Amino acid sequence: MEKKIKINEIEFNISFVNNEYCQNNMAKTVSMSGNIFVNTNLKEDIRANTLLHEIMHVIYHNYSIGTPEEEEKIVESFSNGLFAFLRQNQNFVIEELLGNKKDKYIIS
Ligand SMILES: [Zn+2]
Repeated sequence: MEKKIKINEIEFNISFVNNEYCQNNMAKTVSMSGNIFVNTNLKEDIRANTLLHEIMHVIYHNYSIGTPEEEEKIVESFSNGLFAFLRQNQNFVIEELLGNKKDKYIIS
């Protein structure tokens, strides 16, 4: 199974691969070839969180957010926080952040 996404206008292939291909890692990103590999053995919500984590690694590099030493901590913090926010506010994200029914959340 493969999906395509764009991160900062660059197309990435997302491949869901077996544990052996991932060498027992949860995921692996190869930015130079535009590939994100996610281990299919992960539980669904962990797999989704891991995918967001890998996307954040690409963004971290594209925007030169910090040093290589602080990358994992920053990516882990932002991806976990963003994942929880997205999961806990799905209607708000779809309607307000993605532009549908914008007036629904305005308190007058
Ligand atoms: Zn990481």
